[in-house]
Amino acid sequence: MSKAPLQLHILIVGCGLGGLAAAHCLAQAGHKITLFESAAAIGEVGAGIQVSPNITRLLIRWGAGEKLAAIAVRPQSIVFRRYSNGERVAYTRWAEKMDVFGAPYYHIHRADFHKLLYDLAAPRIELRLNSTVVGCDPETPSLTLASGETVKGDLIIGADGIKSYIQRVVLGHVNPAQPTGDAAYRALIPSSLMLKDPDLKPFVDTPEMTGWMGPGRHIMGYSVRAKREYNLVMLHPDDGSVESWTAEGSADKMRADFADFEPRVQKMLALVKSTLKWRLMDRQPLKTWIHPAGRVALLGDACHPMLPYRAQGAAMAIEDAAVLGNLLSHISHISQLKPLLYAYESLRLPRTAATQASSRLNQKIFHLPDGPEQEARDFQMRQAMEAELA
Ligand code: FAD
Repeated sequence: MSKAPLQLHILIVGCGLGGLAAAHCLAQAGHKITLFESAAAIGEVGAGIQVSPNITRLLIRWGAGEKLAAIAVRPQSIVFRRYSNGERVAYTRWAEKMDVFGAPYYHIHRADFHKLLYDLAAPRIELRLNSTVVGCDPETPSLTLASGETVKGDLIIGADGIKSYIQRVVLGHVNPAQPTGDAAYRALIPSSLMLKDPDLKPFVDTPEMTGWMGPGRHIMGYSVRAKREYNLVMLHPDDGSVESWTAEGSADKMRADFADFEPRVQKMLALVKSTLKWRLMDRQPLKTWIHPAGRVALLGDACHPMLPYRAQGAAMAIEDAAVLGNLLSHISHISQLKPLLYAYESLRLPRTAATQASSRLNQKIFHLPDGPEQEARDFQMRQAMEAELA
C-alpha cells in the first residue's frame, strides 16, 4: 500500500480485532496512530474463531500468511447433523470450495488471532492501555480519557464494540443493541480427552467442522491450536444471560439445555469443566457511520454487530479496516477527509447490512422446530450432499 501524501494523527478507540486491524491498515497508509483501550492488558477470550477466505486473503497480503498457517487448523469439510441422532444431513468438501477464493478457510484460537494482529500493528502504533474514553468532541476532534486527559487528533475511529460510546457521539443519541433472543455457551475441550474415546476420536482426527441443528438451538464444533483443543459454541434461547465477553455460565445448566442432543454430544459436554456464556445482540443497520463534521467514523461491532451464524462479525470489521486504510492512503489535503469517510461508508454499509440480515436468516434456518419445514430443509440439504458425494 502506498503512503498517503498527508499524514494524519488518527485516534482509534478499542483494541479488539477490528481496532487492531484498523491500526495496522492506517499505519501502513503512513498515518500516526494512537490506540486507546480500557482494559489493563490486551487479549481475547478463550474460544475459537472461524476466519474465512475474505480475511485470510488480506492477512496473506499483509505478510502474515506463514504465521497464520502456523496457528490455524484448516478444515477440509463441513458437516451438519440432526441434533437427536447425529444423522448427517449436509456435507460440503470445503477446502476445494474455498480454493476458488484463492485463500484458505481457517479455525484459530481467538487469543492467537488477536496476538497475530497485534504483532502486525505494534511496531508502528502507540497503544495506550488502561485508557477508557469518556468524552469525544467530534468537531476538534478530541477524546477525553477517564483520567481527565484530553487528546487531540485529526480523525477518530470508534472500534469500541457493541456498546460503543463513539456510536452515540456519531448518531447524537443512544441506540442500544437489541437482544436476538439467543445466547451462546462456549467451551474448549482438551483434545487428548476426546482421543481416548473411540466415539469422539473422529471429531479430532477428521479435519472437519461439525454442526448439529435442533429446534431453537444449534452447536458448532471444530479443532483449534494444532488440534490440541476442540472448540464448541452452543447457541440456544436466551434465558436471562448478560452481554459480556467474559461472563461464566453454569456447565451443568449447559448440559441440561442440550440434554436431548445425540449421545456423542453428551459425551463431549461431559468433558466440559467451565463455560463462557453471553447474550447475543445485534441491531438494525445504522443510517450513517460518520459524524456530520467529518472527523469521526465507526468500524466493526460499533456499527454492525451481528449474530455469529455466518461467522462474519470480525471478518466484516477487518474488511472495514482494509477499505479505510486503502482510501486514506490517498489523502493529500485535509478537505478530502470527509468525502473519503463517506466513500468508506458507501463501500461498506450495504455489504455489512446484507451480512447482518443473512446472519439473522440463518437463525431461522438452523433453529427450525421439528416438523414439515425442518423436513423440507433437511431434504434439500441431503439432495445437495448426494450431489456433492456423487
Ligand atoms: P470488540 O471485540 O468488542 O472490541 C471492542 C474493544 O473496545 C474492547 O477491547 C473494549 O474493551 C474496547 N472499548 C470499549 N469501550 C471503550 C472505551 N470507552 N474506551 C476504550 N476502550 C473501549 N466473527 C467472525 O468473524 N468469525 C467467527 O467465527 C465469530 N464467532 C463468534 C462467536 C460468538 C459466540 C460471538 C458472540 C461472536 C462471534 N464473531 C465471529 C463476531 C466477532 O467476535 C466480533 O464481531 C468481533 O470480535 C468484533 O470486534 P470489534 O473489534 O469490532 O469489537
